[in-house]
Amino acid sequence: YEIYRESNPRKQAPQSLNLANGQKRKTLIILGSGWGSVSLLKNLDTSLYNVILISPRNYFLFTPLLPSTPVGTIELKSIIEPVRTMIKRCKGEVKYFENSVQDIDPISKNITLNDGKIIDYDYLVVGVGSKPTTFNIPGVIENSSFLKEISDAKEIKSKIFKNIELASALENGDPLRKKLLSFVVVGGGPTGVEFAAELSDYIQQDINKWQPELQNDISITLVEAAPNILPSFNKELIQYAEELLSSKGKIQLKLNTIVKEVDSNYLKGLIKEQNSDHMEHIPYGVLVWATGNAPRDICQSLMSKLKQQDSRRGLLINDKLQLLGAEDSIFAIGDCTFHPGLFPTAQVASQEGKYLANIFKRLHKIERLAFEKKIRKIEIPDFKYKYKGALAYIGQDKAIADVVTFGKTYPSAGSLTFYFWKSAYLTMLSSFRNKILVALDWTKVSMFGRNSSE
Ligand code: FAD
Ligand code: NAD
Repeated sequence: YEIYRESNPRKQAPQSLNLANGQKRKTLIILGSGWGSVSLLKNLDTSLYNVILISPRNYFLFTPLLPSTPVGTIELKSIIEPVRTMIKRCKGEVKYFENSVQDIDPISKNITLNDGKIIDYDYLVVGVGSKPTTFNIPGVIENSSFLKEISDAKEIKSKIFKNIELASALENGDPLRKKLLSFVVVGGGPTGVEFAAELSDYIQQDINKWQPELQNDISITLVEAAPNILPSFNKELIQYAEELLSSKGKIQLKLNTIVKEVDSNYLKGLIKEQNSDHMEHIPYGVLVWATGNAPRDICQSLMSKLKQQDSRRGLLINDKLQLLGAEDSIFAIGDCTFHPGLFPTAQVASQEGKYLANIFKRLHKIERLAFEKKIRKIEIPDFKYKYKGALAYIGQDKAIADVVTFGKTYPSAGSLTFYFWKSAYLTMLSSFRNKILVALDWTKVSMFGRNSSE
């Protein structure tokens, strides 16, 4: 069925000024092509509105497998889904503009694109995600790579392979070799941990096999400001992950270490100890920065226009995901929002998108009844987040998971959890094509190792 759908996009109802009953067809603009916006699009009845999707990224990126890409465990093409094929599967025509929104005017209800084009909306859904935070720490932007987009994964891959080649050309014992092969990751959240784990697998399973002469000079360091990594997981799982990652010195965990400054050769880390704090210089050859999220400029600009938006952490929304200060026309979902109790995860964003699709159906019904002068009360329910558990890959074919069954959360860790992790992600990948490609990538790695060329 899925194969049929992919090769035969169904005929779509075209956009129009009015609906069949003469009622004005409202314009719904969706910003972004990430977890929130794509979930909305896939669940929305697009024949009810003139839907316009705007995003500078013409594909959906399956972020949970992004940490596997810089070392070649998974190919980048396997985890992206083109926007053009997604919009062709919708019931009603969806217009797509590959562009960024530069300005949102919540009073006049229009948006301005990067090329100056202005588009009016009746409803706007902001799903633009977030940018990596640097906490304004000097030197981070100039010297490190983030891990959020495809371009970041490519940059990290290129830096790793370049340094391995440069180090291979040096004599054994040359101190520069150690520096080039010092891979440092800052941030012990799931992004930093999963990437460090993938990198460690690559070194253990591939580099040590094909270039054993480099073995003694390679190091991976994971720097975390808090006393533990993965703070959102259960205590036992944290301990299990820390022991596995640092076993046999594969990854050096530097906990209680707050990076204060970065230059082209070293990080300056403030090490918090019981009796005294001290600064340490940590040399690096490749630096990956994964310390969480910050609001995008477009959201900061929108916040500055509405007095109700007094948080610096993201767009404030109510329980119906309406933007405070523009409740009648703007909704916001996913990482661009700040709502106490909701984490910036794909799980939250996609549930919010699905919820909004239902809300737009109800809003349309309310408007249709008003147009037909019929009286019937239609409720707009609040958004209720359903936590479905958490997963993280920690290397050596092992994963940790908070598994939710019958409303209770159980910790799970080890090799079986790794197979659960794999099957969960294969299920979550929405297109049949992506499922096949990812399964093939895993099979290729287990049979032939990783492709260590660019
Ligand atoms: P995004 O998915 O970031 O999408 C934002 C979209 O907006 C993009 O298409 C972007 O191009 C577009 N955009 C940006 N600026 C503009 C603009 N000005 N105008 C128009 N469009 C714009 N969460 C989990 O639950 N499980 C996981 O395993 C997991 N793994 C992750 C691994 C990594 C490496 C990372 C970085 C994150 C991971 N997350 C995970 C978190 C998850 O990816 C985010 O919470 C999720 O992407 C948020 O969805 P979103 O739609 O809000 O934003
Ligand atoms: P995060 O916010 O979860 O973790 C960032 C870490 O960086 C924190 O532990 C923080 O203490 C540390 N840090 C901050 N400043 C520092 C400094 N100066 N020096 C040293 N350490 C510092 O960020 P993330 O890992 O990028 O995750 C972002 C979001 O995406 C989270 O909601 C996360 O749950 C989600 N995510 C989930 C998964 C998964 O479920 N497998 C994977 C990746 C991301």
